[in-house]
Amino acid sequence: MLVARTLDELRAARASFGGRTLGLVPTMGALHAGHQALVQAAVAAGGAVAASIFVNPLQFGPNEDLSRYPRDEAADLVKLQEAGCDLAWLPDVATMYPPGNATTVEVAGPALHWEGAQRPGHFRGVATVVARLFGQVRPDHAYFGEKDWQQVQVVARMVTDLLLPVQVVPVPTVRDDDGLALSSRNRFLSPEERLLAAVLPTVLRTACARLPAEGLPALDAARQALEQAGFTVDYLALVDAASLETLTEPRPGSRVLAAARLGTVRLLDNMAVG
Ligand code: AMP
Repeated sequence: MLVARTLDELRAARASFGGRTLGLVPTMGALHAGHQALVQAAVAAGGAVAASIFVNPLQFGPNEDLSRYPRDEAADLVKLQEAGCDLAWLPDVATMYPPGNATTVEVAGPALHWEGAQRPGHFRGVATVVARLFGQVRPDHAYFGEKDWQQVQVVARMVTDLLLPVQVVPVPTVRDDDGLALSSRNRFLSPEERLLAAVLPTVLRTACARLPAEGLPALDAARQALEQAGFTVDYLALVDAASLETLTEPRPGSRVLAAARLGTVRLLDNMAVG
């Protein structure tokens, strides 16, 4: 696996792939089997595969602890190599945001609600860094986890609106045996909280099964179940899968999105209805 830390190294690595198509997996490191599944999906598509590791300051709010974000480059590189990655792209902050840079990308539509409302500026940071990564790496395909459903829709909207020459490929959420979606945040759960955390996917699965017959009361029951289990629910919503607009009744392509806190750890999950 090649490792590039400068734009010159990235260009040289890219040139060494010749005419092969290139898939990009953007990450913030602290890699786990969920990230590896994205790399494996890119490998399965047949072209060369690049993964970026960049903890993007622009997508953290003032009250979100950027310095607490877990970093372990050596372990990450081993995981990328294991998954079949050809190139690790590890830009520093000055490479991503050189002095004098003055352009950000602001997506409205699917970025307005849910995470966008809870974390002002978050999707501006995501869209900006993803646009910059696309400009640097110039991938043919880019792989994103359905775990962050809204993020996939925001990136897809940006790609459509700006006619960017890249195809966004969503990859299903990888879960632990008890159903909890893998996340770099799970390490901050105490052993008791970790056991309890599996209630979130269980409750979502039940709600998604009951929604077609019962409608919104199934969502009220889910909220109650989460609160009784000790979660603080930031949002639990039935939405259109692409626009992220709230729905009053399920229809084909609807999705339940949830953000809920256990102690200091904020868990995100989502599932298809029906
Ligand atoms: P992050 O490093 O957390 O920004 O995530 C990088 C990419 O990995 C994003 O596209 C995430 O949606 C994806 N990802 C994170 N966790 C999972 C998971 N459990 N299953 C599938 N994809 C994931």
